[in-house]
Formats: sequence, C-alpha cells, structure tokens
Amino acid sequence: KKVIFSGIQPTGVMTLGNYLGAVKNWVQLQEDYNCIYCIVNMHAITVRQDPKALRQNTLEAYALLLACGIDPEKSIAFIQSHVTTHAELNWVLACSTQFGELSRMTQFKDKAKRYPENVNAGLFTYPVLMVADILLYQAHLVPVGIDQKQHLELTRDVAARFNNAYGNTFVIPEPYIPDQAHGAKIMSLADPTKKMSKSDDNANAFISILDKPEVIVKKFKRAVTDSEAEVCYREGKDGINNLMTIYSAVTGADFAAIEREFSGRGYGDFKTAVGEAVAEHLRPVRENFDRLMADKAYLESCYKRGAEMAECISRRTMDKVYKKIGFLPK
Ligand code: ATP
Ligand code: MG
Repeated sequence: KKVIFSGIQPTGVMTLGNYLGAVKNWVQLQEDYNCIYCIVNMHAITVRQDPKALRQNTLEAYALLLACGIDPEKSIAFIQSHVTTHAELNWVLACSTQFGELSRMTQFKDKAKRYPENVNAGLFTYPVLMVADILLYQAHLVPVGIDQKQHLELTRDVAARFNNAYGNTFVIPEPYIPDQAHGAKIMSLADPTKKMSKSDDNANAFISILDKPEVIVKKFKRAVTDSEAEVCYREGKDGINNLMTIYSAVTGADFAAIEREFSGRGYGDFKTAVGEAVAEHLRPVRENFDRLMADKAYLESCYKRGAEMAECISRRTMDKVYKKIGFLPK
C-alpha cells in the first residue's frame, strides 16, 4: 500500500475550509492507503500562541480528527511534538534548502504581512519542517488544500536534491488536491477573494466545524456576495462561486443543478439553503466530538499509540539520513 501523510495546525477550531479542502479526503483515503495524520503543533508556534489555549486546541484538534472519521485503528494519528524525528530531520533539510527558495514562499509573505510584529525565523523556515514531516514517512501522496501547493513543490525539489547529493533516500511525494467542485479552496465569507482561515480574527469570516446550526445559518446569511441576483458560477462572482462550491461539496449537486434549483429565487433563499445543508452535514461531526471530549483517557491512549508507531517508522528514515550525510553512529 502507498503511504499518505498530511497535517493540520492546532491554531483554532478546524474550519469548513480545512474540512472540505483536506480532512474529508483524509477520511476516504484510509480505505486504500497507509495513512499518517498529524496535529502539527510545532508549526503552530510560528505564530504566537497562548500556551494554555495551544494545549487545549491540540487536544481538541486531535479529537476533531477522530470525530471527522479518522480511525486510529486504520490510520496513524499523532501529535507532532511527541515524535522528535521531526525536529531532527528539519535541521538536516534546512541545510539542503536555499534562502532564496524560502524567500519566494507566498504563505511566508502573507503571514509576515499579517503579523509584522513577529516575523520570526521559524515562520520563514516553516516549509522546511513541512518537508521533513512528509519525507520522514516516505509518503507517496500528500492530500492538502491548494494553498499548500507551493510547499509541496518545495518538498519535491528538496527531496530530489538530497537524493542527488547523497544517493536515493526519500520517496518524491505527489500532491493530492481536490478539484474545484469538491472544495479545492474555500474562501472567506467576509472577503471571498481571501481563503477561509481558522486563525482569521473575524469569526464571521469562517465556519468552524463546531459552530451551532443556528450560528452556521446566520454566518451564511451574512456572507458577502455581489449586487446581482442570479445564482450562477461565473468569473468575478467570488462570493456566489464560493457558496456554490460549498453547496456542491456538501450536497453532491453539480453547478448546473444548483443554477437550476435556484433560478429566479434570489440570494436570500440560496444562502439559507447553503447554511442549512452545511449545518446538517456537520451534525455527526459535532456529536462525535462531544462524545470523544468526554473520554480524555481514550484520546490519550490513541495519541500515545500513534506517536509510538510514527516514531518507529520515522526513526528508520532518520537513521538512513544520518548515515548518508556522514554522522558518526553513536
Ligand atoms: P492557519 O490560518 O492557522 O494557517 P488554516 O485554516 O490555513 O490555518 P492549516 O492548518 O494551515 O489551516 O491547514 C490545514 C489543511 O487545510 C491544509 O491541507 C490546507 O491546505 C487546508 N486548507 C486550509 N485552508 C483552506 C481553505 N480555505 N480551503 C481549502 N483547504 C484549506
Ligand atoms: Mg494555513
């Protein structure tokens, strides 16, 4: 079986964007691949986090993965800081990554602009840690949202460069990005030219997958659209395009069917329908989450076992890497 690796930051509650763009696929892939999923708390500290909140968010993010359908019996689900090889390979690969390459990463530029008071070195080298996360498990496929495409290209470049310099060591991974109608990139409800982010300061900009049904409907009613009245997928109608993508992803209807369903009905009706469909789609996730959070001992046993398995697999890669680069064995 081929190996899949992916991760999500515990920077807040998972959004509908994370769910439709990434995690929903992770669940389906479990049937056909050896899947390894990680709560990347080491990535999260590239932006200042309150320690108490980070601890709680990490546990909740883990519970949410399981609530979405990641099965700890089928897949390996763990917390990044529990497996020390991530920090180890990060250093080695930092020495195989160019300053110029990292300078071109658009996520760095975006986040540096958003947090000008804390443009730390970790924010700059974040992609290297992500490269390490993926290569440690010799992953063939990496299911991510399209916003991570550039980081995936870097991963392939660094892996190939290392293999060239030291001999074949890493599998070169492929990105696995869902197509548009299935939620490639979900946009902010407050500004549909920006991607939906769980760390957005404006809670109306995103749907958290734990939002109550009435909150979900209310947020969709407030979603920014345009001054026309026709529900159709067209260049320039960013807000409506986004709502159509979401509606399509949760109901399975294609764009033509959605246009027919709402022809002559105006935006109000459409927004309410999207809100209700999303709330219904997320109901089981919310119920599973509440059940899981009531059993902390079970969660702990899952993430501990996940970390042991991840440690074991990634240590094999690390041993190989240290040997290849000429580190004297201990
Ligand atoms: P942050 O704002 O803290 O970076 P985020 O919402 O971008 O949070 P990440 O943890 O960085 O979430 O990303 C987790 C996964 O979700 C990644 O695979 C990423 O590509 C995907 N993803 C993030 N935002 C979206 C979005 N708006 N649409 C589709 N996929 C997304
Ligand atoms: Mg992100």
